[in-house]
Amino acid sequence: MTDDASDGTEYRLPPSLRDRIDELGLQELREVVHYAQDRIRTRHRPVSEQIEAAPGEEVLSVEEGPEYTEVVKREPCGENCPDCPHGPYLYHVYEETLPDGSDSLHWVFLGHLFRSPRVAETSADSD
Ligand SMILES: [Zn+2]
Repeated sequence: MTDDASDGTEYRLPPSLRDRIDELGLQELREVVHYAQDRIRTRHRPVSEQIEAAPGEEVLSVEEGPEYTEVVKREPCGENCPDCPHGPYLYHVYEETLPDGSDSLHWVFLGHLFRSPRVAETSADSD
């Protein structure tokens, strides 16, 4: 039982907030829309700013593109391993909106990169 718009849209606004908005006139409503759009722009962080290295990881590059953000990183295997972190690995990162309206990052693993910028052909047998 809702009195939502007939196109099936469900509004997730708290009723108290909806009541406040329902009291507004047309001009005020337009201002609310502008204000909300501005808040969205302010709050929304680009994907590249949301990329953070997890413990033991090493983010080598982050390149934001129109469709996805390309991330190259090295990562630990979780064991007590002398070769950690491994990689570099290439990911494409997409931003997804979940059914509850929140945004989350979706990582697509593309593979191992064999151009390693710093540790090309290390002969580390000297221990
Ligand atoms: Zn390892």
